[in-house]
Amino acid sequence: MELRFYDTFSRDKRTFKPLDPNIVRMYVCGPTVYDFAHIGNARPVIVFDVLFRLLRHLYGADHVTYVRNITDVDDKINDRACRDFPELPLNEAIRKVTEITDKQFHEDVDALGALRPTVEPRATEHIAEMRVIIEKLVAGGFAYVAEDHVLFSPQAMNTANTLLPRYGSLSNRSLDEMIAGARVDVAPYKRDATDFVLWKPSKPGEPSWPSPAGIKAEGRPGWHIECSAMSWKHLGEQFDIHGGGIDLVFPHHENELAQSCCAFHENRMANFWMHNGFLQVEGEKMSKSLGNFITIRDLLADWPGEVLRLSMLKTHYRSPIDWTLKSVEESAKTLDDWYRFAADVRGGEPAGVVIEALADDLNTPQMIAALHGLRNSARSEADRGALASSLRLIGFLGESAEQWESRKRSASGIDVAKIEALIAERTAARARKDFGESDRIRDELAAIGVVIKDSKDGTTWEVAR
Ligand code: AMP
Ligand code: ZN
Repeated sequence: MELRFYDTFSRDKRTFKPLDPNIVRMYVCGPTVYDFAHIGNARPVIVFDVLFRLLRHLYGADHVTYVRNITDVDDKINDRACRDFPELPLNEAIRKVTEITDKQFHEDVDALGALRPTVEPRATEHIAEMRVIIEKLVAGGFAYVAEDHVLFSPQAMNTANTLLPRYGSLSNRSLDEMIAGARVDVAPYKRDATDFVLWKPSKPGEPSWPSPAGIKAEGRPGWHIECSAMSWKHLGEQFDIHGGGIDLVFPHHENELAQSCCAFHENRMANFWMHNGFLQVEGEKMSKSLGNFITIRDLLADWPGEVLRLSMLKTHYRSPIDWTLKSVEESAKTLDDWYRFAADVRGGEPAGVVIEALADDLNTPQMIAALHGLRNSARSEADRGALASSLRLIGFLGESAEQWESRKRSASGIDVAKIEALIAERTAARARKDFGESDRIRDELAAIGVVIKDSKDGTTWEVAR
């Protein structure tokens, strides 16, 4: 099976082959842990989980390493710690914030059906690797020390040997334009406006570590160096896929690429750079001030995670996605049908049409069309098995049909005993041919959101969404 992915660096769709035939290596930038994750943050989690599952299916579960980091050192974390735990020393307060947020994040993404990555490294546990890379960059003339900061110089990179990619090539910007467009209030210790921070001094009370490059004062890392260090530690100097949201292309990924290539004298960091498009809500950019900011947690209160997962996959990962209630409602109906039709079937192999759609740059809209095709043309137990197995491969049908239904019932606050008593009364009414009473009970059930279906085997019911 030929795999083809769009690569942001080369700006085309290329055939994918692992650099090391024995192991596929993927790194995705993870969350900064200071608050509940929003539904936009769920997009890279779900998209790269589908990719992880596809790669495991094709290469074997033991032949894929997926690293998604946790950024646990950041100004936003420090601010939140001061706000939420003013009585604690800052370092303790920070630990509390990161622990709580980390737990919330995992609960949320588990509920979305995302597999845990192979490794989830934390930035604060990789300071030693960051120091090594920073030292290499200073020794190679790509970085310099100024006022207890270490700064990376894109100019130095672009005037060095030709093996290195040019700074700006990932985001398709020229350094000259960046210099021309730079802000006027550039920090005085920078030689050039485009220089960026690898290491900076910590303010009193802030987390701090011994500094690299002969700096006496303790300090802390910049954001970009964290990912160069964690990907190096867990995947090596070069690896197959680097992912994240499109907003990370510049400056974060451009800078990661610069750091890693210059430190290791390589012409590339990742063979493929994959970026998901942005998510907006009901046609508007999601923001706290517009009041349309939705956390994963809010949505999980109303919907099973698989419904949110399906809604996310209806749009191709590189396109912008408009998150709407209508689409979520439709996804719920689709899943109700798939659960009823296929959830209790075991065995079977994922269908070729589903894998082929995913192999073509994760074409999930085409994959969903293929799933509908399988559903509608299924005639035999084997057909249902192919549908069920395809759905499980991509993270659906995590529960039985019965669990799915009963969750829906309990989520809608419905009194199951009362419904079953009403259905029994209605069955009795029908038996004595009292159709007036039987219709009345049907209406009473409909009024509380319960739809009943009669068949030769008796009456079944479900909650209308
Ligand atoms: P952050 O915690 O803001 O660094 O974001 C974590 C991940 O979520 C990154 O890969 C971002 O690119 C991604 N992300 C943030 N906001 C959105 C959004 N509205 N739509 C899609 N992806 C997003
Ligand atoms: Zn990163």
